[in-house]
Amino acid sequence: MSLFRKLFLVDLIEGMKVTFGYQNPKYIYTEQYPKERPPVSERYRGAPRLNINPENGETLCIACDLCALACPENLIVVGWQRGGPDGKTGKKTLTNFTYDISRCMFCGLCEDACPTDALELTQDFEMANYSREGAIWDRQALEEGPRPTQYKE
Ligand code: SF4
Ligand code: SF4
Repeated sequence: MSLFRKLFLVDLIEGMKVTFGYQNPKYIYTEQYPKERPPVSERYRGAPRLNINPENGETLCIACDLCALACPENLIVVGWQRGGPDGKTGKKTLTNFTYDISRCMFCGLCEDACPTDALELTQDFEMANYSREGAIWDRQALEEGPRPTQYKE
């Protein structure tokens, strides 16, 4: 029996049957990325965003520094000043905010520490950069969020 199988390449033929069985188009699944972006899990933690109040366009960040303190990587730097935007109050106001995504492990501790929901890790996953400097996002970049290239064809 085994000689017969060897002579007539039975094992090879059976293997090829399995291989070609999977060439059927109904078994082929190709994601057309980046034309079609795959949905990510609801709890996925991706690109950081600094939220603004949609009603008045002001940042929700109160410059409390809790996110920076919570971060095990110390990659968040919150810039602030006293005096409010008009310089008349003792209120702390945000001046700048930097976030180094190249060192971030997306653990979410900063997001959890934020008392105003200003800092959010969004579902955006396209954060590639050509330089290390490009991985350091400033306040403007954080407020605008990532802008990946949109491919039509
Ligand atoms: S997600 Fe984690 S590592 Fe990244 S900035 Fe927040 S606390 Fe730091
Ligand atoms: S993002 Fe949140 S935790 Fe961080 S400084 Fe602003 S308000 Fe505080």
